[in-house]
Order: sequence, then C-alpha cells, then structure tokens
Amino acid sequence: MDNLATLLAESAWAEGNRVAIRQGKIVLTYAELNDTSARVASLLQAKGVRAGDRVALVMPNVTYFPIAYYGILRAGAVAVPMNPLLKAREIAFTLRDSGSRIVLAFPLCADAVAKAAAEVGVDCLVTDPMTFDTLVRATEPMPETVDRAANDTAVILYTSGTTGTPKGAELTHRNLMTNATSAAKTLLHVGPSDVLFGGLPLFHAFGQTCALNAAVAAAATLTMLPRFEPAKALEIMHRDGVTVFLGVPTMFTALLHAGIPDSYDLSRLHLAVSGGASLPVEVLHTFEREFGVTVLEGYGLSETSPVAAFNPPDRPRKAGSIGVPIRGVELKLVADDGTTVGPGEVGEIAIRGENVMKGYWSRPDATAEAIRDGWFHSGDLARVDEDGYYFIVDRKKDLIIRGGYNVYPREIEEVLYEHPAVAEVAVVGVPHEIHGEEVAAVVTLRPGAQTTVDQVRDYVKQRVAAYKYPRIVTFADALPKGATGKILKREIVVTQQAPED
Ligand code: AMP
Repeated sequence: MDNLATLLAESAWAEGNRVAIRQGKIVLTYAELNDTSARVASLLQAKGVRAGDRVALVMPNVTYFPIAYYGILRAGAVAVPMNPLLKAREIAFTLRDSGSRIVLAFPLCADAVAKAAAEVGVDCLVTDPMTFDTLVRATEPMPETVDRAANDTAVILYTSGTTGTPKGAELTHRNLMTNATSAAKTLLHVGPSDVLFGGLPLFHAFGQTCALNAAVAAAATLTMLPRFEPAKALEIMHRDGVTVFLGVPTMFTALLHAGIPDSYDLSRLHLAVSGGASLPVEVLHTFEREFGVTVLEGYGLSETSPVAAFNPPDRPRKAGSIGVPIRGVELKLVADDGTTVGPGEVGEIAIRGENVMKGYWSRPDATAEAIRDGWFHSGDLARVDEDGYYFIVDRKKDLIIRGGYNVYPREIEEVLYEHPAVAEVAVVGVPHEIHGEEVAAVVTLRPGAQTTVDQVRDYVKQRVAAYKYPRIVTFADALPKGATGKILKREIVVTQQAPED
C-alpha cells in the first residue's frame, strides 16, 4: 500500500486522540481527521471520481484543506491544489490543463471558482459549513484507502518554474511520502508531542510537505493560520506552544520587526526552519538571538517534493548554507555544457533521487528539458565547500551581467541587510546602454529609520568591488510578494536612470 493517505490512517490508528489540526477554536483529532476525510473520499466516489482522476482544491489554510486533500488521496484520485487568491481566468487554466473532474472550493473563493468551473464544465463543490458538512456527515466513510503504486501520481503542483507559463509538476506517492517522512524524522525530529507552525500556504510544496504531511507522518499537531500576519503568528505560537516554526525569509523578518510581546511564552519553540528563498545571514543570527532557537535552512523546489538539501540537525549548521543533500537525494553542480564544475566553482544545481517529480503533466518537451539523464536541472546557481555544504549564489535568471561582470544580487542583498535602517531589499538588473545592465536596489526601511539613498549606496560601495555596488537605490513602502511570501523580483519595475559614473 503506497498511497500517501496511509500516513494519516496510520497516525489515526496509533494516536487517534491526539490533536491533528488546530485552526482558531476548531480542533480536529487524528481520528476525526481520518474519519472526515474518509467520508469526503466516499462522497467523491459517489460523484464518479475514480483512481487517477484529478480533483482540484482551492482553499486557504483552513481545516477543510487537510480534510479534502486526504479525502482525494484516499479515493485514489490526484489532488490539484491551487492558490486561493487566483482569479477565475487563472483557475480555469489550471482546471482545463489538469483535466480536473471536480473542484472543491472554500466559500471565500467560491465566486471565482464557480465562474471558472462553469466555463470549463467542471463540477464545483463549495465547502460551506452548512451544506458541505451535512453532506459529508450523511456519507459513510470509505472503509479502505484505494491502493496506489509508488510511482502513481498523488499531487500535481502548478509552478511557474524557470519559464513563464505554469506547468503541473507531477509528484508521486513515493516522492511525497519519502520527503514528508524525511522531513519529520530526520530533519525536524518531530513526534506526537510537537506542534508545527502552519502559516506557510498548504497549496505550495514547502507547507504541504514540511508542515502538513510531516506533521501527519509524526502524528504531531499542525496549528494553521489562514493568512500569515506576524502578530497572529506570534499569538498562535504562544497559545498553542509551537515547537517548530517553518517559514520563508520574509516571515522571519516580519516576526523580528513585530517583536515578541512581554507576556508571551515561546519557551517550547526549539527549532525554526527557513526555505523557499535565501535567508540573509544577518536575519538568521538576529532571529536565533531574539527567539532563542536554532535556525536551519533548507532548499528545494515544487519539482523536488520539495526538500533536496538541509542543514542536518546532528552536524554543525552553517549560516548562509542550504546544507547537504538529504537521504535518498544527490546533488551536483553543472556548467552550461553539462560538465560538472570543480570545487569552489559556481554551477547550476542538478538533483537526482526519490524526491524528483515524474515530469510536467502532459508536457513531454518541458520534462525532457528539465530532466536530462535522470538529473533535474533547477535553474539555481551554487557553490559547494570542502565539507559538502552547498551555498546558493543566486537563481540563474536573476544574475545581473554588468559590463561583462557577473553580479549576484544575493551578495549585494546580504550587505544591505547589515545596514541598520534596512528592513527588506531586492537587488535587480535594469537595462543600461553602456553596461548592458545596471545594478539597482529597491529598499524598504525599518519604521522610524532615518537615512538617504546616497548613504545606502555608499554603505555598499565601501564593502564590495566597484562594479557591483548599486548605482541606483530607491526606497519603497513595500516589496511585491507571492502567496508564499517570497519577494517577486519579476514584478519590480525600476524606472530611475543610473547616474553618470
Ligand atoms: P518553488 O518551486 O516555488 O518552491 O520555488 C523553488 C525556488 O525557490 C528554487 O528554484 C530556488 O530559486 C528558491 N529557493 C528555495 N529554497 C531556497 C533557499 N534556501 N535559498 C535560495 N533559494 C531558494
């Protein structure tokens, strides 16, 4: 029995009375989560859903998400989770592309989903507390999980990947099961008494595997936040005794800026995990100091379930590093011509192992381009040190080439994060007549901070080679962010011209 849903059935069997999910005042034990999702599985079957059929899921982090997700899997169907903030046009694209048979929607996003479903001709079920709950309660739980092979697709995660149009990464039961189990057992070391922070969106790989599926694999509790807000996050960390915090770097900065209220007790918190984007070293150190926890950084992509590398808890962690490949996964660094680069050199991360997706759903060309000779090419550039620890240099497509020299935005961002007035920063390239590209820094300031663009520019100028420092510095109120909280560089438009050198 290789169905990912057996993780839930086993935890319900072993720890039925433990709290599986918390969301505000709503609490579900493992027995309840298992029972309700088994009813959803029956309901789907009654609606004609068969093994291998795709079922879309459009919900924020609410209790219906895990109920529906495991219900879909239990019925042997393939879950297609979507960002609840998508517009009808975008939902319609994914419904059509995935060939979903039915879509489950949370009331808040029901209008857009219903519109998209009607356009594509797909059945839409809205999980409102009255009709859906009544329907679910009136349905008998499906007694047995539908058997699936390890290599059958469990989930399709839509990602923009390294090119523009969203593609569905087909993740198998084995991909997700091994990644969730590694995350729970060897990376986070969590068990039934742990409480994981569930503020990362569950439709995305990081939250889905490392928060939801890892919590379920360990029979731990997941406390969910429908929308990340630092004050709310701190409140549930205090109230529910969160032991492991998981977040993207912007969540770390937001928590630091909010500050821990004096009356809060976060003494149960012992580990914080960062992923999804590079965690500035300065932020890592400050967070460890203020929150009194170890921060471990990991790395991965939707296409790799997602975890590919992690700072192992049993070895000294290296600040600024994504750690080493996890068990069952290999990493190598390759040059553009496919050859492996030498020690200390920068190359593209290629990944092979049990976490690598089957391919992009009905996109054989994109699959063949991404997975070559069994190695998935990530589009991320990195270096490896003598201990085998990897350091992300930048994404290949974010690299700035100024006057023939490579400028890695991350290096400049790290310097800017050391500036006391800087809250958040994104360094991007802007077209330039003479240099090809010019380096620009878009900065948000800490509340009450006093500084000038000249002062910020000079701060970097004193610390890096002359070709690298940002000729253009602009202040912004906020930086554009995606649903996971990652800074969206492609949405940053810098109109300002560089001054004459
Ligand atoms: P996604 O498929 O949305 O999970 O995005 C995957 C991308 O996130 C990777 O290709 C990286 O560019 C980035 N990423 C994930 N983890 C890290 C990390 N620890 N440091 C730097 N970039 C990261």
